[in-house]
Amino acid sequence: MNNELVELNEGTHELGIKLAEDKAAALIRYLDILETTNQSFNLTRIPRAEYVNLHLLDSLTGALFIPSSPSLRILDIGTGAGFPGVPLAAALPHSQVTLLDSTAKKVRFAQETAHTCGISNCRGLHARAEHIARDNTHRERYDIVISRAVAAFDALIELMLPLTKVGGKVIALKGAKYGEELLGVDDLVMNLGGSPPQVHTVRLPASKIERFLIVVDKVSPTPSKFPRNR
Ligand code: SAH
Repeated sequence: MNNELVELNEGTHELGIKLAEDKAAALIRYLDILETTNQSFNLTRIPRAEYVNLHLLDSLTGALFIPSSPSLRILDIGTGAGFPGVPLAAALPHSQVTLLDSTAKKVRFAQETAHTCGISNCRGLHARAEHIARDNTHRERYDIVISRAVAAFDALIELMLPLTKVGGKVIALKGAKYGEELLGVDDLVMNLGGSPPQVHTVRLPASKIERFLIVVDKVSPTPSKFPRNR
C-alpha cells in the first residue's frame, strides 16, 4: 500500500476518526493533484512529506468536534487549497460542505479537484465571508462553521458566528499561539451569541505537534450590527 495511505489510515485510527477506505484513497489523489498544481500556482508552502499530517490529519481533527447527525451544513471560511473543508467532506459523506474563499482560482481548484477525486459533497463559493454574512441565504444557515489559518480569533469569530445557526457550532483550528488571541474576547463572543470559547488540544499523530481547536456554541441570534465593517 502507498506510504501516505498507510500514514493516513494509521493517523485517523489514532485520532479516533472514521474515514472510509475509498475516501482515504481519494484524499491521497487530492494531494497528488495539489502537489502538481502547486508547481504553477502557489497553493501551499508545506512540503509534500508533511501533507498527510499537516493538511489531512490536521483538517480531520475538526471532525472530533462535529456531531454525528446526518446532513449537516458545514462552512469552511478561507478554504485556500481546500483545508479543512475537503478532508471533512470526505470523512462526513452525509454532510454538505461549502468551501468559501475570496480568491476565485483557489475555490475552483478545491471544488474541481475534490469532485475529480470522488469527493462530491462539497461545493466552492467565491465570496468574502463578511459579504455572505449579510446575505439571508447564508446568515445563520450553517450547523458548523470552521476555519484554519485565516485571521486572529477576534476578527474570525465576528465572521463565523453570524453565519452559524443557533444550536450550531464554530470551530477555529489554531497553532500554539492561540492563547494571546483569546485574551479579552469573552464579551465579544457573548455579544455575537456565542458561549465562552473552549479550547481542546489534539496532538497530531506521528509528530509532537500540538494543535488547538477553539470551539464556541452558538446559543443566541447574532445582532444585525455584526459583522461590523473593519
Ligand atoms: N484554510 C487554508 C488556507 C489558509 S490561507 C489552510 O489552512 O490551508 C487564508 C485563506 O483565506 C486565503 O486563501 C484567503 O484568500 C482566504 N480569506 C482571507 N480572508 C477571507 C475572507 N474575509 N473571506 C473569504 N476568504 C478569505
